[in-house]
Amino acid sequence: MESKVILLDQDGVVADFERGFLACWQERFPNRPHIALDQRTTFYPRDQYPQEFRDDIAQLVAEEGFYLNLPPIEGAVIGVNQMIESGHNVFICTSPLLAYIYCVPEKYSWVERYFGVEMVKNIIVAKDKTLIHGDFLVDDRPEISGVTHATWEHIVFDQPFNRHVLNRRIQWDNWQSILTQPTE
Ligand SMILES: [Mg+2]
Repeated sequence: MESKVILLDQDGVVADFERGFLACWQERFPNRPHIALDQRTTFYPRDQYPQEFRDDIAQLVAEEGFYLNLPPIEGAVIGVNQMIESGHNVFICTSPLLAYIYCVPEKYSWVERYFGVEMVKNIIVAKDKTLIHGDFLVDDRPEISGVTHATWEHIVFDQPFNRHVLNRRIQWDNWQSILTQPTE
């Protein structure tokens, strides 16, 4: 089988940002409303939560430990290892918060924790993912744009807030479908 370059977004594809955020939110603000995971309709929680909570949301995700303690997406650890064992070149391609102080190093630590130190070599930090080459970018963001025309096919990683997107989509139990269906 032909070896592919597969770029994997980190949050929402391997790290469960949504689950981690909801747990932190409910722990910190138990008396405030929250939005159930299957009811999330926007890419950023700040755009769906009441606007008066905007600053608290920004602060919560920028805090020490938030990114480090995100749980993995169900099936991600097995799935990534299957990709690697199948001979593909797998990279974590992540666009960190502008509030990077804890976010960036904790993203590195997170990758080491779940995928091992060798995988740390394959982390690409890029605010503009169109600049990165690859066959596929697996990403939960509904639309991805940048300064150049991307070489990769954007495979949508299925999340409740991106179901309107018509791209091919996967979850970790069917990632192999990106290899077997035509890309055009
Ligand atoms: Mg993401």
